[in-house]
Amino acid sequence: MSGHIFHDALVRLDEACAGTPVAPEVLEKLKIAKTAIEVAISVRMDDGSLQIFQGYRVQHNDARGPTKGGIRFHPKVCMDEIQTLAFWMTFKCAVVDIPFGGGKGGVTVDPKKLSRTELERLSRGYIANIVNFIGPDKDILAPDMYTNAMIMGWMMDEYSNIVGQRTPAILSGKPIALGGSQGREDATGRGAYYCLQAFQQRKEFNPRDMRVAIQGFGNAGQHLALQLHNEGYNIVAVSDSKSGIYHERGFDIPSLVKIKNETQSVYCKGSVSEHMEADQITNAELLELDVDILIPAALENQITETNATNVKAPIILEVANGPIAHEADVILVDAGKVIIPDILANAGGVIVSYFEWVQNRTGYFWSEEKVHHRLQEKMNTAFTTVTNVSQEHDISLRTAAYTIALHRINDAII
Ligand code: NAD
Repeated sequence: MSGHIFHDALVRLDEACAGTPVAPEVLEKLKIAKTAIEVAISVRMDDGSLQIFQGYRVQHNDARGPTKGGIRFHPKVCMDEIQTLAFWMTFKCAVVDIPFGGGKGGVTVDPKKLSRTELERLSRGYIANIVNFIGPDKDILAPDMYTNAMIMGWMMDEYSNIVGQRTPAILSGKPIALGGSQGREDATGRGAYYCLQAFQQRKEFNPRDMRVAIQGFGNAGQHLALQLHNEGYNIVAVSDSKSGIYHERGFDIPSLVKIKNETQSVYCKGSVSEHMEADQITNAELLELDVDILIPAALENQITETNATNVKAPIILEVANGPIAHEADVILVDAGKVIIPDILANAGGVIVSYFEWVQNRTGYFWSEEKVHHRLQEKMNTAFTTVTNVSQEHDISLRTAAYTIALHRINDAII
């Protein structure tokens, strides 16, 4: 999946630094993760056998606060991917100005092949293996691809059992009943929507004229699609890990979400390509559709040097982390595409995770309305700052976002 994405991320950092007065030692520090651990998790399977899974936790940089980042369960998880995701988290937290550093974790596993009880033992085993490295003032966890609120509940319970006190602030994305925050479930999609809304207000286009394609129909993709649908955007294509669908007139998104989630047990078993009258397309074809807005919301490295010239959408909203490889980015920017970068566009999740942590620390919970309002405030401020820097220095939104983040991290380190 990832190739050498960490190398790619560092090239991007060097480019952003070119126009930023950052101390050389800060740059050196940011090129190496503070802590990176690899663990072997033994899990007793339902048939009595013992299976060993490889787990990872990376704390990239904690200059601005405890590290914060999700946990991914995926067969292609590796150290290169996790350290890159942790690196991006450092910049994401800085660009939206929340007092966290960057962390990330994961387990190399195909979670869809595990029973619910095996998944619970794996989740608890992961925590037991990394317990000495994490903490509510040190490194805070969250959901990411193929981890969800239920898994967060098991992990929080395991951590609390080991340390001997209930510790909801060890992670975000918990079920509400266990101390989760209102508005966390749809925070990433909603945050991306607020970002696009701010962009739309600047560019003054009509959402009803916009045809949208979304790659990835999980937590982030679905919630964003629902928001866009409500605003009148026409979502003509969506996809998941199995394949995609296209319909010229667009989809009724609430029905599509219902179909996709109808067979949900631990993971969604249905695919968007089932039970819908539409043309079947591949994930690769979706990226090259003639649409106004392309939204990659699945995995990294989806647009590369190979397919970048075939991308037709003039606007790309990066909801996945790192969906565009560095070489592809250069091609797209040269072609005049506007890319709203991942560290800004998908920051809604970590912003509401921060709100959840604050609520857990104070023991006072906010209404959903308040969470939405504060999320929108944060996203709008970050969007305006990034857009202004981009216009002032005639640089891409991505370089502007990195520049702002670098200034803030530099101030914390020096
Ligand atoms: P999820 O597990 O809820 O959903 C992932 C979706 O991607 C599923 O629909 C799956 O079928 C699809 N998918 C998997 N492999 C695919 C492939 N090869 N091609 C197309 N689709 C594929 O995950 P999520 O939480 O929605 O995360 C999606 C992306 O958003 C990831 O890059 C993640 O890092 C990023 N992100 C998520 C959050 C969050 O809070 N959930 C926050 C920030 C960034």
